[in-house]
Amino acid sequence: MKQQFDVVIVGGGMAGASLALLLKEQVAKGLKVALVDAQAITPVNLQQPSFDARTTALSLGTKRIFENLKLWQNVHHHACAIEHIQVSQQKQFGRVRLHAQDSHVEAMGYVIENRALGQHLWQALLENPLLTIVAPAKVTGYAMSAQGADLEVSQNGELLKINTQLLILADGAQSEGCRQLGITQTRFDYGQHALVCNVSFDKPHDHWAFERFTRQGPMALLPMTDNRYGLVWCMSSEQAKHYSHLNEAEFKQALQAAVGHKVGRVNRIGERHQYPLSLVKSKEQIRRNVVVMGNAAHAMHPVAGQGFNLALRDAHSLARHIADAWPIESVGSLPLLNAYEKSQQQDQSLTIGMSHELPMRFIEAGCQWSILRVLGMTAMDISYVPKKLFAKQAMGLVGSAAPWRP
Ligand SMILES: Cc1cc2nc3c(=O)[nH]c(=O)nc-3n(C[C@H](O)[C@H](O)[C@H](O)COP(=O)(O)OP(=O)(O)OC[C@H]3O[C@@H](n4cnc5c(N)ncnc54)[C@H](O)[C@@H]3O)c2cc1C
Repeated sequence: MKQQFDVVIVGGGMAGASLALLLKEQVAKGLKVALVDAQAITPVNLQQPSFDARTTALSLGTKRIFENLKLWQNVHHHACAIEHIQVSQQKQFGRVRLHAQDSHVEAMGYVIENRALGQHLWQALLENPLLTIVAPAKVTGYAMSAQGADLEVSQNGELLKINTQLLILADGAQSEGCRQLGITQTRFDYGQHALVCNVSFDKPHDHWAFERFTRQGPMALLPMTDNRYGLVWCMSSEQAKHYSHLNEAEFKQALQAAVGHKVGRVNRIGERHQYPLSLVKSKEQIRRNVVVMGNAAHAMHPVAGQGFNLALRDAHSLARHIADAWPIESVGSLPLLNAYEKSQQQDQSLTIGMSHELPMRFIEAGCQWSILRVLGMTAMDISYVPKKLFAKQAMGLVGSAAPWRP
């Protein structure tokens, strides 16, 4: 027998799980929502790709959305505030410094381990008995009909048939849903990997985050709890392989050379992991009865730490559009989804542009560019307006769905 839902979210990663939580008021009013994920949804032993060894820089806008969801009160002790950001370049003068107090906010953002965030997101999903969770289960077939989207879901060797008014494809950058529905995802390969690990220095981080353009590529050092930093170091795929295989002493030496000595002496290094980097964009984000979300819609270079923050703003906006229209309008109606897409266009294009342009400028730059870059950075450090605009976008205090615009 075919099960019927108003909304089916395929993918319980950070994007899909957050959307399911954002819909909870409508779920309480009778909106039938199901979330399907290939992994078992349990707050322990997380195997899901979003919730791995990485850390995520949450923007201030994300924190505010989590506060409204009553999620922040559970995750805040895992999160470390970013009070200052310094953008600089290895072996060059010139830097941009941003301070939370200049923007009259308590922090520029927060850094959290993905596993901790995942545990609390999934715990919150499991606590809502009105939400249907179909997991572990894999969506194997996608088809559109006059009745909405028809899905075939394989669970425990059985084939379930599900119909929904609104299909959310939050199934990641290699979206099988997009492929089967003929929604093209374009890919730009940066030829880079992100080398990720936790690291501590012998000086306190004092809530500084460092964004540094090193010889190898852009690097972020994000302050974490217990005086640790989350390191995200982007470099060519060959270099990433090389640096992953260095022994600890050699890697410490290479890292120290790249970050300089102001942050202190490298103390401890955690396990290193590598992630290939590409910009993935789906050519369509909406169709009647379909929305593409999160990495499936736009997976980006992590240099500016924006992928999840943008996905959450999208999810927040979609949930608000649904709240405004449903039950008078069907959740899969084209005018509703068009309005949602329009509301996010500017935010998406600015955020994706910033996340793409920043690494490209520095990847492509030869030495004749470097003086211009440094001048640009110095000018930005003393000029209030571009700094403020940059900070506002980076803090996620943007987008038509943000009611807290400063
Ligand atoms: C190195 C690195 C650092 C980053 N740092 C930041 C940061 O600091 N700040 C920030 O905002 N963003 C950051 N990001 C981006 C962030 O990690 C992503 O935006 C986030 O993971 C989005 O996840 P998602 O839910 O869209 O997709 P995914 O995490 O890929 O989840 C997709 C889900 O779909 C499920 N699925 C797939 N196919 C099916 C199927 N057929 N049936 C059922 N389920 C299925 C999978 O099991 C999975 O659970 C970073 C990314 C990288 C690579």
